[in-house]
Amino acid sequence: MTDIAVNLEKIRARIRQAEQQYHRPPGSVGLLAVSKSRSADEILSAMACGQREFGENYLQEAIPKMDALDAAEVRWHFIGPIQSNKCRAIAERFAWVHSLDRIKVAQRLNDMRPATAPPLNICIEVNISDESTKAGISPEDLPAFAVAINKLPHVRLRGLMAMPKPCSDFTGQRNAFQRLYECYAGLNAEGMQLDTLSMGTTDDMEAAIAEGSTMVRIGTAIFGPRPR
Ligand SMILES: *Cc1c(COP(=O)(O)O)cnc(C)c1O
Repeated sequence: MTDIAVNLEKIRARIRQAEQQYHRPPGSVGLLAVSKSRSADEILSAMACGQREFGENYLQEAIPKMDALDAAEVRWHFIGPIQSNKCRAIAERFAWVHSLDRIKVAQRLNDMRPATAPPLNICIEVNISDESTKAGISPEDLPAFAVAINKLPHVRLRGLMAMPKPCSDFTGQRNAFQRLYECYAGLNAEGMQLDTLSMGTTDDMEAAIAEGSTMVRIGTAIFGPRPR
């Protein structure tokens, strides 16, 4: 077996183990393979093991890979910063966007989603770290933002995403993810029907699963360390 096949088996086992340990239903945590900086061939190796969901951060890098692979076999998720002038291609070619944090971008994605396609699945990126990272909207601004997104007909608000600042201690990791979970539970308590919590990467996926993640975004543990 290739490394990628072995790694995918290991990561699936890690997910199953964490589901069990933290009393999550079996199969409740999905796996998004983050393929930024990886070749179409590496993605094909993961597809050969049944992986179908792939995440990309940069449109220019993603497009040649999308062109090289069978569109019917892959579901593409956009997880990077979104420039307004990239909205058309993102709306046309991706099934999901995890990194939405501006209303203007939401409107453009909505307007540019092809009429023949199902609504674009959206996760709002929330800034749950105390540090002043730029990406993500604040928990305070989230409720009004979510209401606005929910009104757009060609996108479908599915949930929330966060990329907390790196933290080596498990309790600290859990605290950050718990803040995102509380945002999610709060919106659902207000009547929204969110079903997706996109949280957890190679280094903190167990903490994310403990706090309710439904989709972990894993790059390094599947494809190895990224070239710099
Ligand atoms: C790169 C990236 C990941 C994957 O991180 P790994 O540590 O390689 O698992 C997940 N989410 C986002 C938004 C990323 O940019």
